[in-house]
Amino acid sequence: MLSLGLPETIRVSLGTLEVLGLAPKVSKYPVGVAYLLMEAERCWGTCKYCPLSRVSRSPKGMLSRVFWPSRPTMEVLDALKRSPIRRVCLQTVIKKGYFEEALALTEAFKSVGKEVSVSIMPLPRSELERLAKAGADYIGVGVDAASERVAAEVGRPGPWLAYWAFIADITEVLGEGRAIAHIIVGLGETFEELVAALLKVRELGGRTSLFAYTPVRGTPLAEVRGPPPISYYRLAQVTAHLIEEGHHPDEFLFLDERGWGIREEFVTEDVVAKAVLTRGCPGCNRPFYNERPGQEPFNFPAASAVKEYLNRLVEEVREARAPRAQPP
Ligand code: SF4
Repeated sequence: MLSLGLPETIRVSLGTLEVLGLAPKVSKYPVGVAYLLMEAERCWGTCKYCPLSRVSRSPKGMLSRVFWPSRPTMEVLDALKRSPIRRVCLQTVIKKGYFEEALALTEAFKSVGKEVSVSIMPLPRSELERLAKAGADYIGVGVDAASERVAAEVGRPGPWLAYWAFIADITEVLGEGRAIAHIIVGLGETFEELVAALLKVRELGGRTSLFAYTPVRGTPLAEVRGPPPISYYRLAQVTAHLIEEGHHPDEFLFLDERGWGIREEFVTEDVVAKAVLTRGCPGCNRPFYNERPGQEPFNFPAASAVKEYLNRLVEEVREARAPRAQPP
């Protein structure tokens, strides 16, 4: 540890190294937020899909399909100070002293003039207030699993209800729209469970950031589950977008013999173009977090990237169906 409780090193996503001038620029779409990850041997969590978890055997420094090299914290702070990037996103891991470390890092990012998002496990109200006072103005909540059933199946730590209480607390402490619920699509949920989770986030004053489940070598889940079909993911994105725009799913979803679909009048170019963009904190675009360069992205990192796909995307969403849940 350095003075002020800062760690010696921190992990930095490759795209972030590029925008900070710490690696040559090769990416077509620059990151809109500086993505940083706490150092840890392993996270104490037991999530079967996460390469950082203690039940995984993935190489150190992986998160989703992205490798995060380690850099001295002071070098990163210095580069941040010189960089025009406005926001830092700190991804925390569960380890001894992680809350104090998150607090020290948040203060350090603020001291170099950055806005700060912290992605963290549910905290007691008093700790959330300390984090807000240190300068975090958006909090990412790793709900990840769309239902309690899925949370248990994939080994998500802690009581599932705690995530929802945390979203409600964040709304009270930081304001409407400041809790960003991370939800991973394709962990084994039914579409009905997913829609219920998206609605619940909205009811609690939060917003949703969708991720596509990405099998990563070395994680237990990668041995049994592949990524979700892209058509299912598109339905999830448009549903999340319409809910956030204030529509109730009863207005825009229908059920036919092929499953759940979205009514044609809601599937406009404008809706689809917005729905497929990465959603989350201001500026968050996470390029190539869930997909390889050259592949049709699950989440598009920029509006300009959507253009060449838009006609096809609209058709894809009109045709897409999510299977109806089988009665237990
Ligand atoms: S939405 Fe993006 S910037 Fe915000 S906490 Fe999640 S990953 Fe970080």
